[in-house]
Amino acid sequence: MNDDVEQRVARLKVIERIAEKNNFRADVMAALEVVERHQFIAEYQQAKAYRDKPLPIDAGQTISQITTVAAQTNLLNLQKGQKVLEIGTGSGYQTAILLEMGFQVYSMERIEKLHLLAKENLNKTGYDKAVLIYGDGFEGLPQYAPYDGILIACAAPGIPDKLLEQLAIGGRMVVPVGVYEQKMTVIERISADDYHSSFEGYYHFVPMLKGKESDIQY
Ligand code: SAH
Repeated sequence: MNDDVEQRVARLKVIERIAEKNNFRADVMAALEVVERHQFIAEYQQAKAYRDKPLPIDAGQTISQITTVAAQTNLLNLQKGQKVLEIGTGSGYQTAILLEMGFQVYSMERIEKLHLLAKENLNKTGYDKAVLIYGDGFEGLPQYAPYDGILIACAAPGIPDKLLEQLAIGGRMVVPVGVYEQKMTVIERISADDYHSSFEGYYHFVPMLKGKESDIQY
């Protein structure tokens, strides 16, 4: 078997296991099947591409566990064509999943090296339609707001105020909140001033940090 066939077999296997344990939307599962996670991780990690585990990418950050990416995308609960803001582009894998599902995607990353890595990964896999921004996710991107969905892929110390303001009425924010372990929280904007929140289980994420960081220190 060549590499790609082997990776495809491994991908289908892990998806089958995820499907046994979870009840995610069909379009989320379909995107997991199409997007090649191994294209978003380093050469030395290729053998681990389809283990359902987070893996180091660069700059001390990680690509999320496959089930976590699926769970957050599932909680967004959006339809094709809707607008999503992602905080924490990382490798670009989650961005590719969102694009594969037909969303309009804006994604922010505070580490320049990773912003560039994601751009490269997304271009080489043909997912070149996202607006990728090197910037601080705490600020969001008010110029493109409101968003039908905001997906935060890092551990937020609290609910970021400015992002709440950028959520469309009827829109949902999916955010892991906490320091050592995070409560996956879904916040739905009911009206201009009313939000409803629900708790969706515990997770572990790398921290959401303030400000931009250039790659000079790495
Ligand atoms: N979705 C990514 C997961 C990346 S891990 C993937 O599929 O690979 C979380 C990322 O959030 C890290 O790259 C980290 O640098 C980034 N991050 C942390 N705080 C941030 C902030 N304030 N703004 C933007 N990105 C942030």
